[in-house]
Amino acid sequence: MTTTNPDWMRAVGILDGADRVCLACHLRPDADALGSMVAVAQALRGRGQQVVASFAEPFVVPAILTFLPGLDLLSAPGSFPDRPEVMMSFDASDVDRLGDLAGPAAAAAELIVVDHHASNTGFGSVSLVDPAAAATAALAAELIDRLGIPLTRDIAIGLYAGLVTDTGSFRFAATTPQVHELAARLLATGIEPAAVSRELYDRAPFSYLGLLAAAVGRAELDRGAVNGLGLVWTTVTRADREPARLPLDAAEAVIDEIRRTDEAEVAVVLKEDDAGVWQASIRSKEYVDVAKAAAELGGGGHARAAGFSHTGRADEAIRALKRALDGA
Ligand code: 5GP
Ligand code: MN
Repeated sequence: MTTTNPDWMRAVGILDGADRVCLACHLRPDADALGSMVAVAQALRGRGQQVVASFAEPFVVPAILTFLPGLDLLSAPGSFPDRPEVMMSFDASDVDRLGDLAGPAAAAAELIVVDHHASNTGFGSVSLVDPAAAATAALAAELIDRLGIPLTRDIAIGLYAGLVTDTGSFRFAATTPQVHELAARLLATGIEPAAVSRELYDRAPFSYLGLLAAAVGRAELDRGAVNGLGLVWTTVTRADREPARLPLDAAEAVIDEIRRTDEAEVAVVLKEDDAGVWQASIRSKEYVDVAKAAAELGGGGHARAAGFSHTGRADEAIRALKRALDGA
């Protein structure tokens, strides 16, 4: 691990002196990645700085995140500068997680990396990386504070969305008193928590129920896997999404059903993307470091939530993952 202590002073100095800041977050962004990025983009824009904000193809905002304020500041990755003066990266543990924007990141004169993955490779010229942070959003909030930019409701919503999702609605182990203190500050700007959680968790097109039924119906339990701790897994295929033309992100919540399974420490959902590549979501409960196993398969993540990609058959991906988990 090459993670360094957050270098707040340098980040503030660079951002204070920048005419234009180019922001990127990890590909197929979740609420923490996109929410943190649009929060900082709005904060910088609000004090008169130019911003370019984007993420790699497929450049589509997930339906559950279309309520975020500040999406108007996004532009397609094709219009991202090749060699930005000042670039920022949000919630990406390594440069490849930026997809097509890895090139500009490598060429940027300054690259400020805002992230909370323990596995962060230290790919920035300035590292605002803290594995103890519950969400990248918590680090983005600290940066905005240190820049002396007041939190508006529009800025706070992106941060709140990241904080809520990465803590599993304030349920996961990283939910410290400081997390609740930050949530209180964000809510005090006028956010309606019920409205945000309805957007994030409580809506989907009717056709999602068919996708969920198919995925849940195919779930398999292997009690002996993971040294006897058990593994449950399923798939969401392109065929499941096809009838209603659901995008890949429609399958994101399936893992939250699968991981209920009492008999399994580890839960996996393999989601087939539009190119036929399996995108794995892995979760563990108490004992197993799934980030370590995911890293062996070319992915990464956190100890209790990780992922990887696999080109080939789903059962092969599961077999490879089980092997990696047996050694974890
Ligand atoms: P999710 O299952 O919600 O897509 O991802 C869970 C976590 O795993 C994310 O926070 C992210 O850190 C990580 N992750 C998911 N997919 C990948 C991947 O392909 N590569 C890497 N490095 N990390 C991933
Ligand atoms: Mn995150």
